[in-house]
Amino acid sequence: MTAAPRIDLHTHSTASDGTLSPAELVRAAADAGLDVVAVTDHDTTAGWEAAVGALPPGLTLIRGAELSCRWFGVEPAIPLHLLAYLFDPAEPELVAELARVRLAREERGERIVRLLQADGIDVSWPEILAGAAGGTVGRPHIAQALIRAGLVATTTEAFGPDWLGERYRLPKEDIDVFRAVALVRAAGGVPVFAHPRATRRGRIVSDELIVELAAAGLAGLEADHEDHSPAERAHVRGLAAELGLLVTGSSDFHGTHKTVRLGAHTTDPEAYERIVAAASGVTPVASG
Ligand code: AMP
Ligand code: ZN
Ligand code: FE
Ligand code: FE
Repeated sequence: MTAAPRIDLHTHSTASDGTLSPAELVRAAADAGLDVVAVTDHDTTAGWEAAVGALPPGLTLIRGAELSCRWFGVEPAIPLHLLAYLFDPAEPELVAELARVRLAREERGERIVRLLQADGIDVSWPEILAGAAGGTVGRPHIAQALIRAGLVATTTEAFGPDWLGERYRLPKEDIDVFRAVALVRAAGGVPVFAHPRATRRGRIVSDELIVELAAAGLAGLEADHEDHSPAERAHVRGLAAELGLLVTGSSDFHGTHKTVRLGAHTTDPEAYERIVAAASGVTPVASG
């Protein structure tokens, strides 16, 4: 009997806030013993080409992204992340939304830096932008500046309430989550709700909203994720079973911006096959 394939459907590269380039990421995925890896940078497909170009033999690449979304059904609106797999990267409306969100991220990053500077904290926006090196800018890049300035020791500390977690936290201009689900489907992609019960990151949406999202085209829920407790994972599995949604598990690897390792959580082959079967935007890529 051959071992079950190891499938990790959520990772970040330097195209957003990971620390490995897309090429380094796929090589690291192969070294970690993965059979399938999805590259899911925040609000961009910029890493796809380099990942395809560097794909090691035996590894299958799922091209994806993690979309910054918001549910506007409550005040204030709740931010959430939608993983999108195998969508057409040229679908005009989706392309426009992603470009808008990336620009809004830069404006928000600069405003966060101005708030820090107003309190006498020595951080520089051009330096942070340079640190992102053309990738989607996020708070992890600002966290790195706080570490470089000796103000905090770790990324985790930088996300604490005194820093980017609360005091210097500003909202992004995200995509309405129902619009995002529709756009991903229209682009032939498969939308999966990332870490839906991650209470440690902030407010989460209700199960009732997930029921509505499922009716609107959501395909799956990410259950096994480091930000979910065992009880939260079980809850997500139960909800997915009730709604007929597929369930994924993933590392959400960010290189050295987080401690989690590639393949720390994985997805069952059956769920993976459902994603591939439901997609019509782009195909999985396998090299030799
Ligand atoms: P942003 O997209 O700019 O709002 O930043 C959110 C990103 O920061 C997430 O995608 C994670 O990669 C990272 N992040 C959020 N919370 C934490 C945390 N407590 N520790 C480390 N990284 C975090
Ligand atoms: Zn991230
Ligand atoms: Fe996320
Ligand atoms: Fe992520």
